[in-house]
Amino acid sequence: VKNIAVLTSGGDAPGMNAAIRAVVRACSYYDVKCFGIYKGYEGLINNEVEVLNARSVRNVINKGGTFLKSARSKEFRTVEGRKKAYDNLVKNSIDALVVIGGDGSFTGALKLSEEYNFPVVGIPGTIDNDINGTDYTIGYDTALNTVVEAIDKIRDTASSHNRLFLIEVMGRDAGDIALNAGIGAGAEEILIPEEDMGVERLIESLRKSKKTGKTSSIIVVAEGDKSGKNIFELGEYVEENLNDYEVRVSVLGHIQRGGPPSCYDRVLASKLGVGAVEALLDGKSEVMIGIVHKVVTIVPLKIALDKRPHKHDGLIKVADITSV
Ligand code: ATP
Repeated sequence: VKNIAVLTSGGDAPGMNAAIRAVVRACSYYDVKCFGIYKGYEGLINNEVEVLNARSVRNVINKGGTFLKSARSKEFRTVEGRKKAYDNLVKNSIDALVVIGGDGSFTGALKLSEEYNFPVVGIPGTIDNDINGTDYTIGYDTALNTVVEAIDKIRDTASSHNRLFLIEVMGRDAGDIALNAGIGAGAEEILIPEEDMGVERLIESLRKSKKTGKTSSIIVVAEGDKSGKNIFELGEYVEENLNDYEVRVSVLGHIQRGGPPSCYDRVLASKLGVGAVEALLDGKSEVMIGIVHKVVTIVPLKIALDKRPHKHDGLIKVADITSV
């Protein structure tokens, strides 16, 4: 492997820049030419490719987002689109690709590799932490801290007005952000996609805690919760069924994706970026570089794409106990 390219794809996540930087600098360290591809697979199809050297990535480790930009590409989902992408890789003499993104991006990388026998390595970059085979994804820790900070602020107003706040956080399929930020911010209840708590039990639990003297409450709701109601409907339902509680809804939205990456995410991204280049130089392909018990680990992309086992049991209990 002499020429490695790197791209970021799917939803952006804080720490992606640190990962690109690590890839570029590892290439420089190992004397490999490095190419940056702009706008993910879309940019690869349109040949938006640029040579990067160690100095191209100065002053980016501390920045959120991705300076290579990210995109969602419909065309790359087609055989013809991937042919164009492959032709551009060949045209630029690129002989291996690092893809920083989530499961959709990994699926695309795997297809490219299977169709053209082209070496690919994935780095998990998504705030959701929803990738199998790695304890953490890049951006997740920063998102947690952002969410906790936001909830702390909402708590001030909740307790000043005796209000109950429903706060929606990201997580369509994974409750990691909701559960961990919920515990960290002292939420009363946490609704996640992996568990169906039932709205009746939610109301019952809120009634009980009111009796024990709680005057305000924070309920953290993941986007993909199983209540069967959107957060505004849920807010109305709670208000109707719990007398004398003023209910307010807050959707945190895209602030969860932004901001400077935490130190944890910067270090994680640096480790995984270096690991990706080393794996390619070692002849590996169709693998993700993840972190398991603090050790950089090489996981087949096919396993990374498997459904993650439900691993929240202990945390759900902690959330229940600490919110009595
Ligand atoms: P996030 O978890 O943040 O949403 P992601 O990587 O899962 O990140 P997606 O939008 O699902 O984000 O995927 C990113 C891109 O990967 C898509 O726009 C598409 O170009 C490519 N991709 C996704 N699924 C496939 C597929 N089945 N075949 C080929 N390419 C795909």
